[in-house]
Amino acid sequence: MAYRRGAHELGDGCVAYLQPDGGWGWSNAGLVVGDGASLLVDTLFDLRLTAEMLSDFDRFTLGAPIRSLVNTHANGDHCYGNQLVDGAEVIASTAAAHEMTEVPPSMLAALNAAPGEVGDLFRGFFGAFRFEGIEPRLPDRTFDGRLEIEVGGRVVELVEVGPAHTRGDVIVHVPDARTVFAGDVLFVGGTPIVWAGPLSNWIAACDLMLGLDVDTVVPGHGPVTDKAGIVAVRDYLAHVEAEASECHAAGVDAFDAARDIARRMNLSKSDFAEWGEFGRLAVNVEAVYRSLDPDRQGPDVVELFRRMARLER
Ligand SMILES: [Zn+2]
Repeated sequence: MAYRRGAHELGDGCVAYLQPDGGWGWSNAGLVVGDGASLLVDTLFDLRLTAEMLSDFDRFTLGAPIRSLVNTHANGDHCYGNQLVDGAEVIASTAAAHEMTEVPPSMLAALNAAPGEVGDLFRGFFGAFRFEGIEPRLPDRTFDGRLEIEVGGRVVELVEVGPAHTRGDVIVHVPDARTVFAGDVLFVGGTPIVWAGPLSNWIAACDLMLGLDVDTVVPGHGPVTDKAGIVAVRDYLAHVEAEASECHAAGVDAFDAARDIARRMNLSKSDFAEWGEFGRLAVNVEAVYRSLDPDRQGPDVVELFRRMARLER
C-alpha cells in the first residue's frame, strides 16, 4: 500500500487515514464501517486537518454516519479534532479522559506563539499546526480494561493497554476484519516515545497485540504494517530498557546515558538509528530511570524537548 496522505481501504469495511511522514503531530486515524453506522478511531491535531479527513471519509459515511468516536489516548494529535464529529458518542479509557484535560490546545497555541528560544523550539516541532479555535471535546463514555461495542452489526473490542505511550492507551481490535488500530502504542518508521511507561508495560502491550488474530496493523504514526511492525517496536523498547538500566546501575546521568546509547546505536549501524524522531530516546531513557526510581525528579517538558532537539543535532 502506497504511503500517501488520505484514506486507504483496508478491506472488510476498515479504512486507515494516513498522514506521511508520521513525524511529530502527523498522526493516523481509522474508520470501521458497519451497516448504517461507523466508528471513527481518533481525530487529528487541528480542525483543518480533521475537516479534510472527514470529507475524505464522506464516501464511506454518507450511508453509515459516525456514531462512535474512540480516542486511543490523550495526545492532541488524536483528539483535538473531536468537536467536528457531530452526533457521535466519544469513548476513551478513564485514564485517557483525565489526561485530556492536562494539555489544552490553548497551551500549544501559546507555546507556538511564544517569543524567543522556547517559541522557536516548539515551532520546530509543531509549527505546521493551528491550535486556535479548538474547543476540547471530552469523552461521553469511559471504561477501564476492556469494552466491547457494536457498530452497525459488527463487534469492535477496545482494549486498554496503558500506561505505556501515555497513561490511558487503548487499542481498537476489529476481529471480523483481522485488523487492529494500535494508536500510539505503535510507531512505524519513527521512534516510539514513552511519555508514561513503564517500558515493561508497553512491551506487554506489544505481546498482547502479537497474540491477536490479525493480519493488518494500523499504527498511530507511519505506514500500515503487520506483526513485523510490532516486533520492531518491541525490540526497540527492550533494547532501550536493557541499556538504560545498565547506565542507571552505573550511576550515569540520564541525558549522558541517552547520548551514550545513541552513539552505540549509530556505531553498530542499528536500524533504530535510522528511525525518524531519533531524539525521543532522551525521553525514553528518562522513563526507564523513573521506573527504577519512582521519586526521581525529572526535567520539565520544555527541557525534554530541548534534549530531543539536541540529540538529533
Ligand atoms: Zn500521536
